[in-house]
Order: sequence, then structure tokens, then C-alpha cells
Amino acid sequence: MIHRLPIPTPFRVGPVNVYLVDDDPLTLVDAGPNWGVALVALEDGVRQAGRRLEDIERIVVSHQHADHIGLVGIVAEKSGAEVCALDAFAPLVEDFAAYADRNDALAQAVMRRHGVRDDVVTVLAAVTRAHRGWGGSAPVTQRLRDGGELGFASRRFEVHHRPGHSPSDTILFDAASGELLAGDHLIKNISSNPVISAPLDPGGERASALLTYMTSLRATRELPIGTVMPGHGETFGDHAELIGERFAMHERRARKILGLIAEQPLTAHEIAHSIWGGVALTQTFLTLSEVLGHIDLLVERGEVAEADDEGVVRWTASK
Ligand SMILES: [Zn+2]
Repeated sequence: MIHRLPIPTPFRVGPVNVYLVDDDPLTLVDAGPNWGVALVALEDGVRQAGRRLEDIERIVVSHQHADHIGLVGIVAEKSGAEVCALDAFAPLVEDFAAYADRNDALAQAVMRRHGVRDDVVTVLAAVTRAHRGWGGSAPVTQRLRDGGELGFASRRFEVHHRPGHSPSDTILFDAASGELLAGDHLIKNISSNPVISAPLDPGGERASALLTYMTSLRATRELPIGTVMPGHGETFGDHAELIGERFAMHERRARKILGLIAEQPLTAHEIAHSIWGGVALTQTFLTLSEVLGHIDLLVERGEVAEADDEGVVRWTASK
């Protein structure tokens, strides 16, 4: 039995789903943001499922975002639960702040390089820093392997690394029941924005978030999934159809961006502004990530090229 526990978050996305897998060991997938309101809701949710938070024996974290990982340390401490994360992701779970430093530095460099004004970057850096407290850390006691397994007394989940929405996205698939614990890899009502993120490995190269995400979606499309249990919103079926819609949407957006670039060379931030208007200012990095993801797609196809304009990148059509 898997219980979906919607937990409030202070973020625009609304509640996050924590899942309680009522089996042996009693397992929580994700924990909610590091917030008193979320902790109370989590305690209530687990109690309504007939258990206590202190009884949790294992916590699995689906990915690195604060709304999923924030309470992991507090729940682990209260319950003495094992903490499981994908091997490459474990160092981040153990030191959220160190990764946040790297990620913030990358975000600032990307914004400057792609046409966001210096003073805006400085303001946004302060906002991002203030956000960091919603996250959290815990020692990882069990490292999961991509292609490995998460076992229970009466079921087992395949563990698959599906980066794209974030570098650490991990999904759990029970092939016997067809249930997929998807984290934010696949959500019905919102497209899981592939956000530009620092690589998990400090020495690693930054991968293209959208191209990585599309590769991950192709792999997930092949799984014989019955029910998707996402990180936000209701459970759903027909995952292959939804993935098809996502591909079509990204294709449309890439065409639109190509159309703008064909008129005149533009920075990614100018493109974001022309598509989303004021939202490009309030959600600067998110919209920039979205544009750059599609530009990666166009670059890969040889349709646009990069031109350096005194340290700022302007995109030009190559055909
Ligand atoms: Zn997320």
C-alpha cells in the first residue's frame, strides 16, 4: 500500500507529494521542505495512514530540490530511519549548502553571460541565498545504484536515474504492480522545467538540461507503467501519451525561439522577455533555463550558433 501525503510548501508550485510505502521496512519517499508547517502536516499524514513518524525505517530522496529534501535530516533524526539516495547524489544530500554554493555561482555566471544585467544578478543572488534554508541534509546510510533495486518484504522497486528536471532525479518502478514513484521527472499538470543546475560531481561538465531530460523521458516512455505517482498533483496513467505531448510542446517552443532569432541576433534573456514579458524578470533564471534548453536543441541541429558580444552571448540563425 502506498499513501500519497500532500505536504504544503512555501513555493509557487503548491503542495509536494510525500509517499509512505507501508511495507517492511516502512519507507517514506521524500520528506517535504524544511518548514514547521510541513513537518506538522507530515506527522498528521503519517498518523492518518495509521503510523507514526517515529516508526519510519527508511527515507528515499527522489531529487535535490528543497521541497523534497528539506526535512530529511529532521525525519531521520526523529525516527532513526536509514537514508537512501542515488550514489552520485549522496554527497549533495550530506551537504546541501556546499552544492547550493556551487549552484548559485553557476547560476550567476549563466545569467551574466546570457544578458541579465549585473545589478539584477546581484539582487537575485540574495533572494536565492535566502531560499537556501528550506533545504536540508542528512548522512546517507544506503547508496542506491542506477539500475539497482530497492527491496521490501513484499515488493521491490527498480531504481532508475532520470536526470533532466534536476541532475539527481531518481525514479522507483515496481514492475509487478506497474506503479512508478516519479518525483518531479513526470508531472501531469505542469511540465517539469529542466532547470540549469551545477553537475553533481564538482569537476563535472554542465550537461544540457533539456537534452538530458528528453533522453530520460525516452527511456521512461519504454517502461510498462500503469500508474504514475508524481512529486506534485494527482496520480495518473497514460504516461506515454503525456511524454508525447511534452515532446510536441518542446518542439513548438524551439520553433518559436528559432523564429525570433531568425529576425535578429538576441541574448537568451531577450528571448525570454519577448516570450514571457514581465515573468522573465520575476522568474529570471527559470525562464533563462527554459530558453537555453531549447537553444541547446537548436544548436545540436545546427540551426543556431553562438556569437560573443563582449562577454555576452547573442544567438544567430545559421541557416
Ligand atoms: Zn523538483
